[in-house]
Amino acid sequence: MTPLEIRIADLIRSGGPMSVTEYMRTSLADPDHGYYVTRDPLGAAGDFTTAPEISQMFGELIGLWCVDVWQKMDRPSPFDWVELGPGRGTLMADAVRAAQVLPDFLEDGRLTLVETSPMLKERQRQALAEAPLPVAWTDTFDADGEAPLLLIANEFLDALPIRQFERTADGWRERQVALDGEAGFRFATGDTVMEDQVPAALRDTPTGAIFETCPDARDLVAAVADRIARSGGAALFIDYGHPVPALGETLQAVRGHAYHRVLTDAGEADLTAHVDFGALADSARDAGASVLGPVDQGRFLQAIGIERRTEALVRTASPDQIADIASALNRLTAPGPNAMGRLFKAMAVHHPDMVGVDGFGAAMF
Ligand code: SAH
Repeated sequence: MTPLEIRIADLIRSGGPMSVTEYMRTSLADPDHGYYVTRDPLGAAGDFTTAPEISQMFGELIGLWCVDVWQKMDRPSPFDWVELGPGRGTLMADAVRAAQVLPDFLEDGRLTLVETSPMLKERQRQALAEAPLPVAWTDTFDADGEAPLLLIANEFLDALPIRQFERTADGWRERQVALDGEAGFRFATGDTVMEDQVPAALRDTPTGAIFETCPDARDLVAAVADRIARSGGAALFIDYGHPVPALGETLQAVRGHAYHRVLTDAGEADLTAHVDFGALADSARDAGASVLGPVDQGRFLQAIGIERRTEALVRTASPDQIADIASALNRLTAPGPNAMGRLFKAMAVHHPDMVGVDGFGAAMF
């Protein structure tokens, strides 16, 4: 057993089965052995790769998107530029470089990186060592700030702990993690029937069905939307997920670039779940902001100019580099199962007075 599995087993022995939420939260964020606390999970030697690690174009285009939104806000000064869960800092370093097309933007901005992992904070510090604007780190998003906000979150919401509910013979119950013998875990269900946790339209289904919610993601998006509704600005959330609430289990573990069993090796494998963009759009609107999307990542990147950016890079590239650029373009935008273009979605939350936010020409909502 991993050190964290030993701790989780002790907790279950003394307190009874724990919710899937607690299992996921502990696996990812335990202060001693949590997955994100103890390692840099990204890149070839890590467990998974993300869009900014695939190509510089991703962060550059998002940087230009931010500059464009700032201009549409009439260039507020100061403003808060925030990224949630910046990983190695690659996206932000590329975004800052691209934003140098408009030096006023960088002069007026101050950058805050919201990150819990000490190791990744250090990677981000190195990546942004030359950034020509003040950079600060916090563990949580500051909902109380007064300045207009420009916020980016790529593959952040999928790492927040979800609740799972299972349809049993006499109703919906919370899914839990229980001990399975001496050295393993299995799923179980709680004692209390919780019908109202599942949308009415999805309740009447055969036993065994799973419904997932992510209260932390809803609270976070509500806090961001509330801040935007009060002080202006926009937020861009990119993640893999579905456009409306749906049944189905999406909790998954990944280790060494391969799927892993969810209840094995706690703290040593990444755990994520699909983002329910429909539920998050509702939280943002309830908090007084407007929402665009979600649209497929491929369509979003095309709308904000990835093809033009590809052509510009190709003009000065060697034949090997041209092949890499073409392959990155394909991975980021193509619809197939091994690419991110359709599985990943982009959603913007913005102040209701802001018009013309780029990238969402044919929005679904
Ligand atoms: N955005 C980056 C990294 C995605 S991995 C990229 O696209 O490459 C998820 C990131 O979120 C990591 O940096 C992780 O340490 C951070 N993270 C996970 N849970 C967090 C939490 N609850 N609060 C703050 N950061 C968190």
